[in-house]
Amino acid sequence: MVMGIMGWGKLLQPDVVLGNSVLAITPELIERHGLRGLVLDVDETLVPISEIDTTEDVQQWLQQMRSQVSLWLVSNNLSVTRISRIAETLDVPYVTGAGKPSRRKLRRAAQAMNLPVHQVAMVGDRLFTDVLAGNRLGMFTILVEPMVSPASKRSRRYPLRALEVWISRLLGVTFKVYRS
Ligand SMILES: [Mg+2]
Repeated sequence: MVMGIMGWGKLLQPDVVLGNSVLAITPELIERHGLRGLVLDVDETLVPISEIDTTEDVQQWLQQMRSQVSLWLVSNNLSVTRISRIAETLDVPYVTGAGKPSRRKLRRAAQAMNLPVHQVAMVGDRLFTDVLAGNRLGMFTILVEPMVSPASKRSRRYPLRALEVWISRLLGVTFKVYRS
């Protein structure tokens, strides 16, 4: 398929730019957009790459979400050991090695939830994998800020993510932060 520059901008445009970590996704946001399922990225979205375990905050947030929406973890990480451990702690079904921006595993998650894709949000920290995959499939997309490690008080840099934001801006993507 031949696609113009603006076509790419459209595919990279998140429906919601949260401007905060995943913990800022509220029942009101879910309700407002008629969402019934969340497909969650894992690395840097739920757990910093430098950490092994989820925090209490993330566990509590997920329990709150669970009463409202179906949940799946869809990770590009190839480590079944890492992702299965996190998924089992959270008691959420998961896939590893998803190959986002491929749509395949997102589609599988939506099918397992028995939901139409437009009622499912792809939630992640990265534009060229999470947001692109979600938009390609017709899911709602939510871009979150990377999860900060409680251990490291220093602010981390995410050069690849910053590059993706820079390129996306050039393609016409806007980053107006969501206000509830
Ligand atoms: Mg990620």
